[in-house]
Amino acid sequence: MSRSWWRHKAGGFGPSLFREFFGLGKIPRLFFIWGLHKFNFGLYFSHDHVIGNNDSEEIMTTVFDSLTEDLDAIYAPSRKPAAPVYKQTCGKCNGKGRVTFGFTYVQSGTCFACKGKGFFEFKTSPEQRAKARVASQARKDRVQAAAVARADDWRAANPVEAQWLEKSASRGFEFAVSLSEALNKFGHLTEGQIAAVRKCIVRDDERKVEQAQRAASAPELTVEAIETAFANAKQAGIKWPKLRLDDFVFSPAGANSANAGAVYVKQGETYLGKVLGGKLFASRDCNNETRDRIVAVATDPHAAAVAYGKRFGRCAVCARELSDEASIERGIGPVCAENYGW
Ligand SMILES: [Zn+2]
Ligand SMILES: [Zn+2]
Repeated sequence: MSRSWWRHKAGGFGPSLFREFFGLGKIPRLFFIWGLHKFNFGLYFSHDHVIGNNDSEEIMTTVFDSLTEDLDAIYAPSRKPAAPVYKQTCGKCNGKGRVTFGFTYVQSGTCFACKGKGFFEFKTSPEQRAKARVASQARKDRVQAAAVARADDWRAANPVEAQWLEKSASRGFEFAVSLSEALNKFGHLTEGQIAAVRKCIVRDDERKVEQAQRAASAPELTVEAIETAFANAKQAGIKWPKLRLDDFVFSPAGANSANAGAVYVKQGETYLGKVLGGKLFASRDCNNETRDRIVAVATDPHAAAVAYGKRFGRCAVCARELSDEASIERGIGPVCAENYGW
């Protein structure tokens, strides 16, 4: 049914009421016409001819057909031309949608990557997607480069903090490592992070002062005897000599260790210090009383080994039980004593 025809007719009929009604829109207009026919009011107008009321059957059909067509046209969702879909075979399952796994017991299951479809669907072509990926990477690179430049500016503006970060990170201090990464990623540190770094700097400085004070106030502790004892043991062919003196364990550092040549002192799992060049370097965990006891046993390891043997009934060197009378008397196994040059 032509709109223009009705517009024209409605306009041409003159009376404003009629025009108003016909101007309401398509649906009321259609129902009105349908109603006209239904109650057989007489005339029905079509495109190019006038039909008399004796053709009511045909009119009925025509009106109904066009009515439903028009309603369809109004209410049907607007059908856009279907967007092209690009299919890409799933590489995980080679397009089969199923994968096999297991070596001894081979099983198969739905491919997780494509959810069993065997392909992926994209709204863009592979070329478009490749281009988008390149562009996205370039964008990320630009952002990253900008952040690094800002991080450099930050370092220049905060030399003390930057130096601490670099030094601590290179030593493997986790906190400093993660902050350095954050700095490079975002180009700056947050207020909280800067405060934390400054706290660490203050703490490190305090420690340095403390260490210097300890070193200055520490008495000259000459404990060469224990180094001599271990040198003898190594000469005797013992690869990993060990001495249990008092409740400490003395053992030389490995030849490839950073402390090669030193003798470590431990109490259980606690590291108490090291003897190097005849001097005792006590750790933070070593209090003055403990330090004095270490010095006492390290100064005369033989006497300390005997005291250990008599106290615990075990050899201070190999930790074996002292069984024969002579060994119990001596407080140390004869072979071990010889190895250590006693
Ligand atoms: Zn798949
Ligand atoms: Zn022994």
